[in-house]
Amino acid sequence: MDSINFPKTVCGGTLREPSKYPSAVYGNEIVYFCTRSCLREFEKNPEGFISGEIEHPLEDDDLEENNV
Ligand SMILES: [Zn+2]
Repeated sequence: MDSINFPKTVCGGTLREPSKYPSAVYGNEIVYFCTRSCLREFEKNPEGFISGEIEHPLEDDDLEENNV
């Protein structure tokens, strides 16, 4: 139905240059993330992230994987 739509990040923004952002396949869609930290959180818990239960991290790539 919608013809011209920029892809949205699951973080809530709209992307004009999606190729610059990390992405993943979720279901039949490609979803985009504002940072790679967000992608990492998504990989840990895709459904939680998509549904908004998990806040996306604001830091970029400095996070250690220090929680289970
Ligand atoms: Zn994000």
